[in-house]
Amino acid sequence: MSEEKEKKKVVALLSGGLDSQLAVRMMQEQGFDVSAVAIKTPFCDFDCGRGCGFEIRERADDLNINLKTVYLGDEYINMLKNPKHGMGAGFNPCVDCRTMMFDAAKKHMDDIGAEFIISGEVLGQRPMSQHEPALHTIEKDSDLVGKIVRPLSAGLLPETIPEKNGLIKRENLGMIKGRTRRNQLEMAKKYGIENPPNAGGGCLLTEPQFGIKAKDLFDHVETPTINDIDLLKIGRHFRLDDKTKFVVGRNKDENEMIKAIALPGDILLEAKDVVGPISILRGKNAKDHIEFASSVTLRYSDAPKDQQGIITVKKDDSSEEVSTHRAVEESYIKFRM
Ligand code: SF4
Repeated sequence: MSEEKEKKKVVALLSGGLDSQLAVRMMQEQGFDVSAVAIKTPFCDFDCGRGCGFEIRERADDLNINLKTVYLGDEYINMLKNPKHGMGAGFNPCVDCRTMMFDAAKKHMDDIGAEFIISGEVLGQRPMSQHEPALHTIEKDSDLVGKIVRPLSAGLLPETIPEKNGLIKRENLGMIKGRTRRNQLEMAKKYGIENPPNAGGGCLLTEPQFGIKAKDLFDHVETPTINDIDLLKIGRHFRLDDKTKFVVGRNKDENEMIKAIALPGDILLEAKDVVGPISILRGKNAKDHIEFASSVTLRYSDAPKDQQGIITVKKDDSSEEVSTHRAVEESYIKFRM
């Protein structure tokens, strides 16, 4: 039997950040065959540049490991409606989110016959999900008690099953704690990881402004769709009434995205003779707000201040023109999220 075949398998939950890369390197150094699982959600599609999923495919190649990407879509949205362990400071359900991620890693572990799961979590690094009770809760909820090894901090955590079975030794595990990255940067040097990524700050749901918009969506729509969530990521958002939202593009790219996101029944607005935003009215009472939305759309355009302007209003196959004045700030700022 070749040496490669004799290696025990482990599954790494890979985020692409430095910590999970180091966790992989530590296990490879100890002779394990590491496969990775990376998780996408509607709020983290690896493209946001925050470091959490940054260049994940390239990182997996650098580490010379297989990568399986798992997308948590509708089930993630359902979890967000009522996360068992609540939200963090934003709209971030970190404990439930990590549990779902480990569920996916567990499935892969079972599928490939791996011994245990590793992650780059560092004790005390993140307020909601990386203190010891939270780490334990996540293990319990994903039915993985004793089967998750956090190599960077494992020397400070309870003994795991692979330690008890002699597969790994405590003296080879790290004792890193807290938010400083000094130890990790030294380890990056040792393992030859060039240009280590900055610390990821969490996904969009941890951002206060985004959190407000996400909470508003979940408060007003029973089951938001991926399309609703994509719309959350762009534009200036206004809650006009319980059933109606209004979003104004901030630049050319967002205008294009708004057009692409628009669904049958949505109303699109655009200034006719001047450069300006594309806006979208979405919801049951959308048509009741056309005049107001037109004046706000004109406000964000290049239309001269004291003149009337024309807004083209399109819904499905119909189109009309509305003549309006620029809205004054007091009339719309109260609806802004
Ligand atoms: S920061 Fe976002 S992706 Fe990370 S655990 Fe929290 S909710 Fe999940």
